[in-house]
Amino acid sequence: MPLAQPPTGHYLLLMNAPLIDPFARAITYLRVSVTDRCDFRCVYCMSENMTFLPKKELLTLEELDAMCTTFVGMGVEKLRITGGEPLVRKGIMTFFNSMTRHLESGALKELTLTTNGSQLERFAGDLYAAGVRRVNISLDTIDEGKFAEITRWGRLPQVLRGVEAALKAGLKVKINAVALKDFNEDELPALTKWCADLGMDLTWIEVMPMGDLGNEDRLGQYWSLDDVRARYADHYTVTDLAERTGGPARYVRLEETGQKIGFITPLSHNFCESCNRVRLTCTGELYMCLGQEDMADLRAPLRASPDDSSALEAAIREAISHKPKGHDFDYSRQRLDGQMPRHMSHTGG
Ligand code: SAM
Ligand code: SF4
Repeated sequence: MPLAQPPTGHYLLLMNAPLIDPFARAITYLRVSVTDRCDFRCVYCMSENMTFLPKKELLTLEELDAMCTTFVGMGVEKLRITGGEPLVRKGIMTFFNSMTRHLESGALKELTLTTNGSQLERFAGDLYAAGVRRVNISLDTIDEGKFAEITRWGRLPQVLRGVEAALKAGLKVKINAVALKDFNEDELPALTKWCADLGMDLTWIEVMPMGDLGNEDRLGQYWSLDDVRARYADHYTVTDLAERTGGPARYVRLEETGQKIGFITPLSHNFCESCNRVRLTCTGELYMCLGQEDMADLRAPLRASPDDSSALEAAIREAISHKPKGHDFDYSRQRLDGQMPRHMSHTGG
């Protein structure tokens, strides 16, 4: 139907239809990177001398609101805000506060974020007030020296104060740790106990071949989560949980502590069939799959008609119709076939 004509009832019905991809997966989860910048330089994520995008390339806070609002109108029920470090984006609380209306209307079921924790001392209370109830904090080690080594610019005490502030504000905290051979392998019991003592779940993430740095180093750092799981069985009674979130995580419960331990293995193909998510970069590109290059530019239709979301909605629907069945990462034969040239901080992890 030509867009110049007023939409008919049928057209409106189509636009309100849920987002279903070609493999019958409902898209209900949007991860949004709000900045490519970060106050840390984790070795597996960024180089020390990153060049960041010029500000005009970034979606403004108003554009982020319009994007998320459009997705929520199309059936997205969960928003995860990420980056870069989302809490270093100037004015980010204005954005969180503006999303509160979708929680209040019931259209949005969950507003959450993934953060390195450095700014939580400042923002935890405001996030809770905006309706955030859970937060993922990335922390690979609780050894101060190792923390400085892996994050280059991060300082552990600041993050620990952030964790404490989040818990105090009433946020449920999950710790995400990247599993790194010869780095945090020996910390598994200590990190797990620290989380248990503070009532936090812990998820291990397999290191992914992102970015353009040190592939061989990264392969050397690879610590299989099968090994991590086996390590738990040495220390605890481990029960497999059936729970899935539509993502690449599998969970077990440690009977001794009651903790839930997650294992995110994005390199295995065992989760693609239930994938319910897409990722929006800070420049308005929509990636349908973390492991594929195919993306759609949503910034152009948004900027072309900021007061009418129909072109944006059509672009979103078109993009979802291209969501691939699965990704192409492959560590087999110790080659990084399917390596993605972009950084996690761009697509938002
Ligand atoms: N700055 C925030 C943080 O660190 O939580 C949010 C963005 S960060 C890109 C999101 C997640 O991606 C973090 O948990 C981080 O550890 C993870 N990550 C970054 N690079 C990775 C890689 N190469 N392999 C696996 N996980 C990675
Ligand atoms: Fe920053 Fe998060 Fe990347 Fe570390 S993992 S450099 S904290 S964006």
